[in-house]
Amino acid sequence: MKKIEEYVRSIPDFPEPGIIFRDVTSILQDADGLHLAIDLLQDTLKDVDFDVVVGPESRGFIFGVPVAYNLHKAFVPVRKKGKLPCETVEMEYDLEYGSAVIEMHKDSIKPGQRVVIIDDLIATGGTIEAIIKLVESLGGEVVKISFVMELAGLKGRERLSGYDVSSVIRYE
Ligand code: 5GP
Repeated sequence: MKKIEEYVRSIPDFPEPGIIFRDVTSILQDADGLHLAIDLLQDTLKDVDFDVVVGPESRGFIFGVPVAYNLHKAFVPVRKKGKLPCETVEMEYDLEYGSAVIEMHKDSIKPGQRVVIIDDLIATGGTIEAIIKLVESLGGEVVKISFVMELAGLKGRERLSGYDVSSVIRYE
């Protein structure tokens, strides 16, 4: 049986020179890789008592929904601005160049709900930091944050200090 790391294709100089892009499509396109990734993500939640999985567009959907489904929890999407049809809360955050705005439906998290955030990868942690602010502004409590991959050198985990963070694969 292959290890999860062996399913990840690494692409040098994408999307720009000097960056090694960790490709999740190579996990997903293999039935064993997909199973293993979901099982290992779920393992990070073994002892976590929670109500809802929150996942950002678009790779957070891919990994968040199967985990929520398997554990019989709700799933709440975080989307780029302008995509959600009902009343939303929004948060702007910095990207390497410029900024982005993400949104959640205002009624998607009820005050006091225990929230797990799932995404494919943590780099600088900026995306997840913005999602934490949104969830907390709605009265949710972030009890766990789990990633398939962590680019540890970018120190995103430090940005999320005070939260319980797990990753399945860690790249130094
Ligand atoms: P952060 O906000 O932590 O700096 O960036 C994380 C976001 O960028 C994630 O949602 C992730 O999808 C995307 N990202 C950054 N680098 C990579 C990479 O090497 N591989 C993949 N799959 N996504 C990346």
